[in-house]
Amino acid sequence: MTEPPKHLRADDSPFWDEKLERQSRAEWDAQKLASLQRHLQHAYLNAPFYRSSFDAAGVHPDQLCSLDDLRRFPLIDKRTLRDRQSAVPPWGDLVAVPERDIVYISASSGSTGAPTASPFTARDFDEWIDYEARQFWSSGLRPTDRYAHSLNFSLFVGGPCVLGAQKLGALSIHAGTLPSERLLFILREFQATAIWTTPSYAWYLGETAIKEGIDPRQDLAVRRIFVAGEPGGSIPETRERIEALWGASVYDYYGLSDIFGSCAGMCEERDGLHWAEDHIHVEVLDPDTLAPVREGERGEMVLTTLRKSARPMIRFRTGDIVSFASEPCRCGRTSIRMHGVHGRRDDMLIIKGVNIFPSDVEALARADRDLTGEYRLVVDRVEHLDRLIVEIERRHGFNGTDPALAERFAGRLKAVTGVAAEVKVLPADSLPRATHKAKRVEDRRTHVWT
Ligand SMILES: [Zn+2]
Repeated sequence: MTEPPKHLRADDSPFWDEKLERQSRAEWDAQKLASLQRHLQHAYLNAPFYRSSFDAAGVHPDQLCSLDDLRRFPLIDKRTLRDRQSAVPPWGDLVAVPERDIVYISASSGSTGAPTASPFTARDFDEWIDYEARQFWSSGLRPTDRYAHSLNFSLFVGGPCVLGAQKLGALSIHAGTLPSERLLFILREFQATAIWTTPSYAWYLGETAIKEGIDPRQDLAVRRIFVAGEPGGSIPETRERIEALWGASVYDYYGLSDIFGSCAGMCEERDGLHWAEDHIHVEVLDPDTLAPVREGERGEMVLTTLRKSARPMIRFRTGDIVSFASEPCRCGRTSIRMHGVHGRRDDMLIIKGVNIFPSDVEALARADRDLTGEYRLVVDRVEHLDRLIVEIERRHGFNGTDPALAERFAGRLKAVTGVAAEVKVLPADSLPRATHKAKRVEDRRTHVWT
């Protein structure tokens, strides 16, 4: 076997810093503490909101002597950003630099409420793109790849992530949200080897290709699919379905418009998403008691930036429910990995007092080879009692009986979640196909206990 070209070897890459990536937990924590001390001082001195909220809570950055001390500082959430932006337009008083230093803003995709703008200085932006390149490298992207970036570019923080691939040296195709037929044409004409989109769209695009007589496994060269923006990318059963359709490996990434594009991403081992620990500090808290949860347990992810100077984010409640693992990864990196986003705090359904996430149903629907993998949840209340209806589709050519399939699915769902559901089996292609951001839950209850 011949030696790989020198520029492809990990130990020579500018995107693999062995000392940093493999440092011990104690070294990570010391590095984060030093960054955090500087960052809190910057926020306190330059962002009026933080000065007043820290003063009101009776805390000062000088009191931060360990990472645990951060828990004494107040939490913020999306509402804080919206309220402060409307009170102090246009960017709000969490901003800690003069406007002349701001070179870029992203805005939230606006799933709920008014969008909030997230400003970056030139250094913030460059450091983000440097990190993006490192993250892409960890996922196996190389300068020999042809990478099609198929995320929305309009105000969306996912757009500029393409610059990370370009920085790494991959040939980068700024595809954006082209119509599916056009995108498939581009992928085939340019023989793209990698693409980034949402999990729902990757699935939809693969199925569209097949309907148009294009076999993604044979006719396209895509072998890496990066996904973000929905919990689906964290669900192994969903990834496996997309991988089978495309003959490609799926890498889940996690970003936030209010922070930056990739706060976490999968390395080539694809065993959880490595957190960007040199840029963010992460807490995982019980959403009700706000106490830290233990490793492996589910809790709400709370993020604190360590370097982003335009608008520091101190203890930002993301609303995303995650779990994490701290043992070093097989890839050699020692940064903490999150085992997927199980759902959003707002997505959690409470059925007769039991918590259930749509992602729990998704994993079961996609693991069952007698089903197409599409699903929908309908929740209503009959005579004061919650009722969960799960609609699933039998695959084309299914030979068994619908009642047996429904019973089997209901039994598995009860075993995994503890919730008894009414399962309706529909013919293939009955449910609406999701494209970019999927809506698969309909809650008809007038009063929702969440
Ligand atoms: Zn890894």
